[in-house]
Amino acid sequence: MSTKKIALITGGSRGLGRDMALKIAKKDIHVLLTYHTNKTAAETVVAEIQQQSGSAKAFQLDTSRIEQFDSFFNTVSEYLRSEFNSKSFHYLINNAGTGLYQPFEKTTEAQFDDMFNIHLKGVYFLTQKAVPYLADGGSIINISSGLARFTFPNSSAYAVMKGAIDVFTRYLAKELGTRKIRANVVAPGAIATDFGNGENKTNEVKRQLVANVTALGRVGEPEDIGGIVAFLCTEDAKWINGQRIEATGGCML
Ligand code: NDP
Repeated sequence: MSTKKIALITGGSRGLGRDMALKIAKKDIHVLLTYHTNKTAAETVVAEIQQQSGSAKAFQLDTSRIEQFDSFFNTVSEYLRSEFNSKSFHYLINNAGTGLYQPFEKTTEAQFDDMFNIHLKGVYFLTQKAVPYLADGGSIINISSGLARFTFPNSSAYAVMKGAIDVFTRYLAKELGTRKIRANVVAPGAIATDFGNGENKTNEVKRQLVANVTALGRVGEPEDIGGIVAFLCTEDAKWINGQRIEATGGCML
């Protein structure tokens, strides 16, 4: 059986997940990354990891479709068996997600359900299905948002799901502690990715607004986040449990 540690990252094809994948692979951890529709981007991340002498494999998964999770884990478990002669992986990073900017008074039930399915229900049940494959002593990292602590207008449906993820993570830490599995949240501030139609990349008014309320004076980049998640996948982080680590450059302090 291989001694190499293995991490599963949802939404590893772009943005924050891509940087997490690259940084985690640098810790000599094998990376399983998922994509939704962007196979080419996912394969590019796998190639980038290989170029830095790491190893990775991409899988398709819609994290809002719970009925697909059993078949997804069957595929992953077959891969683990054939490549590593192993039944388990060590780190689960629930990162995949989409943005929604909509005033509370205009948010539709369909939009609310989309946010619920991808950011809360999907994360809850993907984690439930993953836990039997997670090694004792492993770790779960849920990606939340600064918006669960501070408020910017037009993010209510999104932010309430992230707030629920903060609570969910504490329960995971409590209930999975018997297996020495840790659970923590990383909560980024506004990061310049494709998220929410790429607003944090291209909307200069919003970027200036964020910079003005951020102690470090700028919008975040994916490279500000991946290393924090990678650190949580190391032995040095073994006593961090049930915590919410906010990484916003000091937003709305
Ligand atoms: P991006 O839009 O850059 O990337 C989203 C990733 O999630 C892609 O890999 C995408 O796959 C995948 N994805 C999207 N929808 C689904 C789905 N239904 N099922 C499975 N995978 C899916 O977003 P970010 O990197 O910015 O966001 C990543 C996480 O960080 C999200 O949870 C987000 O809420 C959180 N976050 C983001 C912040 C920001 O300002 N950017 C701030 C705080 C938190 P594909 O490439 O195939 O489309």
